[in-house]
Amino acid sequence: MNKLSERIENLPASATLAMAAKARELKSNGVDVISLSLGEPDFNTPDFIKEAAIKAIEENYHSYPPVDGYLELKNAICEKFKRDNGLNYKPSQVVVSTGAKQSIANVCMALLNKGDEVLIPAPYWVSYSAIVTLSEAKFKIIPTLMENGFKITPEQLESELTSRTKLIMFNSPNNPSGIVYSEKELNEFAVILKDYPSTYVLSDEIYEHIIYGVKHFSFANLPNMFDRTITVNGLAKAFSMTGWRIGYIGAPEFIAKACNKFQGQITSAANCIAQRSAITALTAPVSKIKYMIDEFNSRRELIFDLISKIPGFKLLKPSGAFYLFPDISFYFGKEIKGKIIKDSNDFAMTILEQAKVATVSGDSFGNKNCLRISYAASKDEIIEAVSRIKNFLSNN
Ligand code: GLU
Repeated sequence: MNKLSERIENLPASATLAMAAKARELKSNGVDVISLSLGEPDFNTPDFIKEAAIKAIEENYHSYPPVDGYLELKNAICEKFKRDNGLNYKPSQVVVSTGAKQSIANVCMALLNKGDEVLIPAPYWVSYSAIVTLSEAKFKIIPTLMENGFKITPEQLESELTSRTKLIMFNSPNNPSGIVYSEKELNEFAVILKDYPSTYVLSDEIYEHIIYGVKHFSFANLPNMFDRTITVNGLAKAFSMTGWRIGYIGAPEFIAKACNKFQGQITSAANCIAQRSAITALTAPVSKIKYMIDEFNSRRELIFDLISKIPGFKLLKPSGAFYLFPDISFYFGKEIKGKIIKDSNDFAMTILEQAKVATVSGDSFGNKNCLRISYAASKDEIIEAVSRIKNFLSNN
């Protein structure tokens, strides 16, 4: 008999974290692996934020913070929502959590019942479907095509919505495709959602600042959507604070209260020093992090150019986040180093084993034909990694 719960037995491991762990393990065994697997900025956390953390320790912040976050931080988040997104959340609508991933889990646990339907446009970030399953709801994937820019159409949304649709998990800028929906496109969704007043939208906006020549528009800012949208964000990506684990939501008050109740039983609150530092990060002008966005942009140009030259790779130029999501299905059914490549999992494993480059299979993001390549790595690493993949594929 199984000793573990069915819940955990049926839970897939996070593909992004599993690949990163594999790359780390190979590296520690002396293998020269380049990891383009994890969406993790390689910059140091900016000094002004580190200084705030040191100050918080010196000022003896050490005890349990309020479950939903320090009031000063919630005020700073409300200011940020106003400044960057034109959204007027009150502190009672904000909950600070241990990373945006926990924020998403809180919302799902607070909102979903067994059998509720959750729509997830694909490609989607690996943990969405797993978190929905943990909360005993059912997810329904809305597929997209690279030819249509990996975007769902209003017609698709309309045909998938039913009276059981409790939540839509929306993510723009998107991980893994890098696409960004325009205000006009989002407006078309809002028009359709008018007829589904009991459907909520979880809008994951963690990559809002990492955009290239396009504008980010918040879902909650669409007509009639403020009271039906849970805006998720966090500090990991924009401020290079992945390990600090600070995420937050702005949400209808009853949802924020429910998340607070759930979090009170699960983690108590997010780390106190990281929260104090987050106040400093969020109240600083966005221009303070521009150097990182500029560098990502120049890496994007570089990697797009290099990857486009690999035969059999089809790709779109992303307008946001720091991933490429090429279609590599050209290689399916072909033999590489004596192994028939069946799918994107095989492809990712083969280039890890043979070319020593870690990426993540598109399968875990809901697209079996693609491969996710993170360019949150140095230009030297990008150049070397792409040349390894190219050489490996051309020598077969
Ligand atoms: N969100 C990042 C990624 O997609 C970090 C890893 C994770 O939490 O999945 O790579």
